[in-house]
Amino acid sequence: MIQLYQPLNFMGMVYREIKQALIDISMMFDILKQPNEIAEAPDAPALVVRAGSLRFDDVHFAYDPARPILRGLSFEAPAGKTLALVGPSGAGKSTISRLIFRFYQPQRGRILIDGQDISKVSLESLRACLGMAAQDNVLFNDTIRYNILYGRPEASEEEMRAAAALARIDKFVELAPGGYEAQVGERGLKLSGGEKQRVAIARTLLKNPSILVLDEATSALDTLTEREIQETLEDLPRKGATIVIAHRLSTIVKADEILVIDQGAIVERGDHATLLAQGGVYAALWNRQRAEQQAAAHAELETETP
Ligand code: ADP
Ligand code: MG
Repeated sequence: MIQLYQPLNFMGMVYREIKQALIDISMMFDILKQPNEIAEAPDAPALVVRAGSLRFDDVHFAYDPARPILRGLSFEAPAGKTLALVGPSGAGKSTISRLIFRFYQPQRGRILIDGQDISKVSLESLRACLGMAAQDNVLFNDTIRYNILYGRPEASEEEMRAAAALARIDKFVELAPGGYEAQVGERGLKLSGGEKQRVAIARTLLKNPSILVLDEATSALDTLTEREIQETLEDLPRKGATIVIAHRLSTIVKADEILVIDQGAIVERGDHATLLAQGGVYAALWNRQRAEQQAAAHAELETETP
C-alpha cells in the first residue's frame, strides 16, 4: 500500500507544482496583458500627462453585443478633484475602471486624458500614469516587499515603508515571520482580503499615479481601519484626478462630484448635500445605509453588555 501511495503522493506534488506554475503564468498575463482588444499601432505616441484630468465622452460598451453595459456615459474627473461613482452592484462601475485601463475598448465614444484619446496612445504610457487599488487585488507569489515595490521599483526602502505605514499594513508585516521578506501566496503567508487590500493600497500610494482609481479599495477592512486609510487618502496632495468607486457611501461624502450609476447610465449627479436634498436614489441609498449602520452599532452594544 505504502509502495503505491508514495508515487501517487509524489505525482500529487508534481501536479500541484505544475498547477501553481500555470496559475502564476496566467496571473501574470491577467495583470500585464488583460484582453487588450485594441491592436496597438506600432507608432502610437506616448500619452503626455499634464494636469491629469479624465473625461468620458458618450462612452458605450458591451462585453457581449447582445447586452449593453454602459449606455452613453459622459462625465469629467478634473485634475485635483475627487469623482465618486456609486450605484447598485452590476451597474457597470468596475467596467468603467477597466475601460480607463484599456482592458477593453468602448464600442462608441472616447475616453480622454488631458484631451488625448487613450485608444490612440501607447498602452505602456497610459498604464504608467494610472494606479488602481480594487476590491480583489491579485498579489504576486513573491515577497511583501516585491508586491509593494511593484508600484515603483526604484523607490527607496524608506519610501516603501512609509507607503506601508500609510496603508496601515506595517504592523502586520513587522509581526509576520520574515517581515517584508515574507512570501505571500500559496506557499507562504496567506493574506486575508483586507490584508491584500492594504498591500494594494501601499503599492498604489508608492506609485503615486497621476490618475488614481479606487474601486471598493477598502471594502474588506473594518470600519476603524477604513476610516484611518480614508483620512490618509483625503490628506494626500493629489495633482491629478481621483476616481473613487464606493459601496459604502460614508466613504465618499467629501467627493467633489458623485455620479449615481444604474444600469450603465448616470441617473443622478451632484455633491453629497445636493443629492441628499434632492431626495432621489442617492438619498434613499444613504438613508438605508445609515439605518443599517445604526442597527449594526446597536447589535454590537447589545453583545458587549452582559
Ligand atoms: P459593478 O462594478 O457596478 O458591480 P461591473 O462593471 O463589474 O458592475 O459589471 C457590470 C455588468 O457587466 C454586470 O452585469 C456583470 O455581470 C457584467 N460583466 C462584468 N464583467 C464581465 C465580463 N468579463 N464578461 C461579461 N460580462 C461581464
Ligand atoms: Mg465592481
